[in-house]
Amino acid sequence: MVGELYIVATPIGNMGDMAPRAVDVLHTVDLVAAEDTRRSSRLFRHFGIKTPMVSYHDHSDNKQINTIVDMLLRGNSVALISDAGTPLISDPGYRLVKIVRDKGLKVVPIPGSCALIAAISVSGLPSDRFIFEGFPPAKSSARVAKFESVAEEFRTLIFYEAPHRILETLTDMVNVFGGARQVVIARELTKTYETFLSGSLMKVLVQVEEDKNQQKGEIVVVLEGVRPSEKDPDTAEARRVLAILLDEVSLKQAALLAAKITGYQKNELYALALSLKQ
Ligand code: SAM
Repeated sequence: MVGELYIVATPIGNMGDMAPRAVDVLHTVDLVAAEDTRRSSRLFRHFGIKTPMVSYHDHSDNKQINTIVDMLLRGNSVALISDAGTPLISDPGYRLVKIVRDKGLKVVPIPGSCALIAAISVSGLPSDRFIFEGFPPAKSSARVAKFESVAEEFRTLIFYEAPHRILETLTDMVNVFGGARQVVIARELTKTYETFLSGSLMKVLVQVEEDKNQQKGEIVVVLEGVRPSEKDPDTAEARRVLAILLDEVSLKQAALLAAKITGYQKNELYALALSLKQ
């Protein structure tokens, strides 16, 4: 019998969000690997958990990973937790999970809190498709380059950000995405000072600038993607797709299919297709 590695989500603030199954698993496993054992001691005290704990980081040496793998091979079970929320989401765990899975051992999720999911679920921004970009780079030049690389993205964008960088980040966002783009700042989720600011990037930037409290605590930035109707269809991409389709199908069908492929408006693509035909 080999043991199982449990990936256990813990609260992002409110202890009431700890899932009963997560408590059971932390009570019953043989070892808990934690990002920061001191911080996790508080969680352990709160739930009366006495399971031995070791610290784990993705830059931990192989010895530590080997110890965990050996334990699993000997039939012991291990749980991985991070300081808050779901491990591996902007948190350690990837290396361990990869190695354990590569060895054919079982990795079991114990789902629960995750700041990005909590933020998008209340944002009022499209949630059918989104991309999570983690923390933007700390340096402004790299941050601007990162934002430029997703400036044409039509899915909702989610970022984590540190409070001391939120002003610079919002300023760079205004410069790259334009001040009119809609944004929601979810701060201190599930905690006493939980706050949501929403509106245009420019409006939210001014609010954060004027209220120093908005520059404190933990923050998720949820940013609207480009609306398909706002996209300028006169691009190389739209032309390339239309040119291929026009060789195969009618002008009307080409516009319809190109709209599905590119996300641009059908009538705008029809006009572009007409100009290509001429
Ligand atoms: N693994 C965590 C998760 O599942 O969300 C994320 C860990 S990451 C190191 C920490 C970042 O997550 C914070 O800087 C903040 O951007 C976001 N975050 C975590 N807890 C939050 C909270 N209660 N409210 C808002 N953002 C939070």
